[in-house]
Amino acid sequence: MQQNFDTTTQEYVEIIYELQKINRVARVKDIADKRGVSPSSVSTALNLLKEKALIEHDVYGVVMLTKMGNELGKELEERHQTIKNFFIHVLDIKPEIAEKEACILEHHINNQVFESLVEFIDFVENQPAWLSKYRNYKNELVKA
Ligand SMILES: [Zn+2]
Repeated sequence: MQQNFDTTTQEYVEIIYELQKINRVARVKDIADKRGVSPSSVSTALNLLKEKALIEHDVYGVVMLTKMGNELGKELEERHQTIKNFFIHVLDIKPEIAEKEACILEHHINNQVFESLVEFIDFVENQPAWLSKYRNYKNELVKA
């Protein structure tokens, strides 16, 4: 589903999904804080999300994802975690960088590529010897 929506839309859904998990609902002010933009630009963006039937938005500044919005949020969270874990546990990338890069990539990665990545991670996790060989190889590169 992620591929049906532009990056900005996905990013807003992701923020609202995260806020809803903590507070049950998201407020315009909190969305603005998270995104680092003004409440008025959040309102403009939210109108577009409403047109796409991803959210419900009342006059008191409370925002809730629709069923479809929730599904998209869940999908993005799964992608985020999968890509982040791959960066950290397979590629040995620092958590802060992994977090930031996962959040960029998750909005662009194509379904087929993502599915292949999931398969690859599954394969690697079941081949500890393969992973430690790769670690050794990387260590050798550092020394060289
Ligand atoms: Zn993310």
